[in-house]
Amino acid sequence: MHYPEPIAKLIDSYMKLPGIGQKTATRLAFYTLDMKEEVVNDFAKALLSVKRDLHFCSICGNITEEDPCEICQDTTRDRSTILVVEEPKDVMSMEKMREYRGLYHVLHGVLSPMEGTGPEDINIASLLQRLHDEAVEEVIIATNATTDGEATAMYLSRLIKPAGIKVTRLAHGLAVGSDIEYADEVTLLKAVEGRREL
Ligand SMILES: [Zn+2]
Repeated sequence: MHYPEPIAKLIDSYMKLPGIGQKTATRLAFYTLDMKEEVVNDFAKALLSVKRDLHFCSICGNITEEDPCEICQDTTRDRSTILVVEEPKDVMSMEKMREYRGLYHVLHGVLSPMEGTGPEDINIASLLQRLHDEAVEEVIIATNATTDGEATAMYLSRLIKPAGIKVTRLAHGLAVGSDIEYADEVTLLKAVEGRREL
C-alpha cells in the first residue's frame, strides 16, 4: 500500500527512532495527523531545539545550553576528582544520586575494536589535556560493565596512572553487561563508594 508522501516521510522518520518498527511508526504517523496543529508545532520545535540549543561543553563534553556547562562552572564542586562516563545521560544518572560532588568527563562512546572505534574517535584527548592542566587527584572510571566498557577502563588506566593520578573503577554492584543509565540510585551510590583502584 502506498501512503501519500507526507505520511510516508513521517513513517520513515519515526522508524529512525530506536525500537520503532514499521507498524508502530505507521500508528504514530496517523496519530500525529489527528493531533492539534499547535501540539504538533510544539513537538517539531522541541525536536529542533534539542539540536539547535544544546551543545557539548568544551571542557567535559556534557550536553549544555551554555559553555562551559553548569557543573564545570560550579566552584563549590570538588575539582580534584573527575568521573568518566560514556554518555551525557550517565551524568544525569550520577547527578540524580546527589552524592557525587566532583567533576565529569563524557567520552561519547567506548573503545570498540568490533565497531572500529579507536582512541581518536572518542573524547580521550581532551581528558588527558584536563589532567595535564588541572590539579586532578583521582579519576573514577564509570564506563558500563560491558566488554568494551571494561577494555576502555583498562586502556584509560594505563594512560593515566603513569602521571601519578589515582585511577579507580566503580564497584561491581553493577551487574556485568549493565548500563549506568539503568542502575537505581542506591546501586550507583554503592558502586561509587565501593570503587576499587585500577
Ligand atoms: Zn562541562
